[in-house]
Amino acid sequence: MNESKLKKYNSIDTIVALATFPSASALGVIRISGKAAIKIASKIFKPANKKDIRKVKGNSLFYGWIVERTKAKKPKLKTGLVVDEVMLSLMRKPRSYTKEDVVEISAHGGVLVLNKILELIIEQGARQAQRGEFTYRALVNGRINLIQAEAVRDIVEARSDQGLRLAQQQLKGELSKEIDLVKQDLKELFSQVEAYINFPEDELKISTGLIKKQINQLKNKLDKLLIGSKDAKILKEGLRCIICGKTNAGKSTLFNCLLREERVIVSRIHGTTRDVIEETINIRGVPLRIYDTAGLIEPRDLVTKKAIAKTNQSFDSADLIILMLDGSRSLDKDDLFLLNKIKDKNVIIVINKRDLKQKLKAETIANFKKPKVFLSALKKKGIKDLEKAVFNSVYKNGLNRENIIFLNHYQEQFLKKAVESITEAKDCFESDDAIDLVGCSLKECLDSLAELTGEVYSEEILENIFSKFCIGK
Ligand code: GDP
Repeated sequence: MNESKLKKYNSIDTIVALATFPSASALGVIRISGKAAIKIASKIFKPANKKDIRKVKGNSLFYGWIVERTKAKKPKLKTGLVVDEVMLSLMRKPRSYTKEDVVEISAHGGVLVLNKILELIIEQGARQAQRGEFTYRALVNGRINLIQAEAVRDIVEARSDQGLRLAQQQLKGELSKEIDLVKQDLKELFSQVEAYINFPEDELKISTGLIKKQINQLKNKLDKLLIGSKDAKILKEGLRCIICGKTNAGKSTLFNCLLREERVIVSRIHGTTRDVIEETINIRGVPLRIYDTAGLIEPRDLVTKKAIAKTNQSFDSADLIILMLDGSRSLDKDDLFLLNKIKDKNVIIVINKRDLKQKLKAETIANFKKPKVFLSALKKKGIKDLEKAVFNSVYKNGLNRENIIFLNHYQEQFLKKAVESITEAKDCFESDDAIDLVGCSLKECLDSLAELTGEVYSEEILENIFSKFCIGK
């Protein structure tokens, strides 16, 4: 871990913050960390067993009172005002969250009482902690790495059981271990390749076949990590999905059917769905953020023109497009216009109104090599097939929960860079002309992974990560 520090933090002060939400609740926890943590606590806390907490070795738990000092030097029940009855946990460095001396006070959850205790601690010389400052200390003191720091935030922010479980898995450092293994292998490979470049004729020691095999293995591992991070992003943020198609194809009906409630007005008058409406539904564990859009046809009037501009915008940012065709009508130029427009996107073609006599011939859409689902949105028939197609289009090789990793935007960029570099190394090794470049690419790959785990990091990235923390973490 490099020692570059964020300007807004310093590791000299003893810091304090409320670690729980400030509201009337059963308990509120105040956390103090730093050199003077125990000394400060000893000045305001009176343990029931009358021990001097400064002399206690190891980690311990005390029952007692927070006492506001009056004239007497030491807090005594007789001479001070009892502020609250509390439990106090004392954790000596390095066996604490920050690897510093830490004291946690579990008091009653009232805002007033907690503020009073905070005030007393600050009076004794502690400073109010900034957002994420405890976790930042855990990071610079080598207790956790950047990936785990992110996981801490994800645990605090987790909105679903699934997200929480995954973040906890990440906090345990399983992902970091995996990346460390890849890094070790890369370093070894790097030295082999260097040796090969310098002494190519020394065939006895190094076989090109083996190097090639190792590059491929590492590439596979990194590819897998990248897929895992994309899967995690979907679980966390949901998948942007658009239902598009000609007016009257049945988009709103399908939308309602998926939502199972009448949110969108279904109408036989063309072009009623003018606004883009967003709803999140859960399809086999995939959070799908569905946008019902204006019937996407060629612009004919201003209102639809506006709507179409909106739709086009959403098109570009969509992860999945459900294109709806009306099976009871033959394909027309509007349908073809749409089919051609989304040729290169992740699309499921839905042929709706299968309860009516079918005029749309299968062969007319056979050229569009996309998954196709026949259904009736009105009669709610074939919806399961669509759900299956959605799941398969998202998780092409199924969803392997063990591979899932949460990365922030920066970390994902580093992983992408690492994948690019290993791919370059592979290509260069296969074309003999560029053999010198293999070493460079492997080195670049290693550097990107070092940035990913936070072995080296920039202030900008740290700022970004810790600014999203809450105070007290
Ligand atoms: P949108 O313009 O694409 O949003 O289309 P709507 O959902 O408003 O549907 C247009 C008309 O088609 C309505 O009268 C729907 O009841 C009807 N409709 C939608 N889906 C089906 C279906 O599967 N079968 C039949 N028979 N009618 C449908």
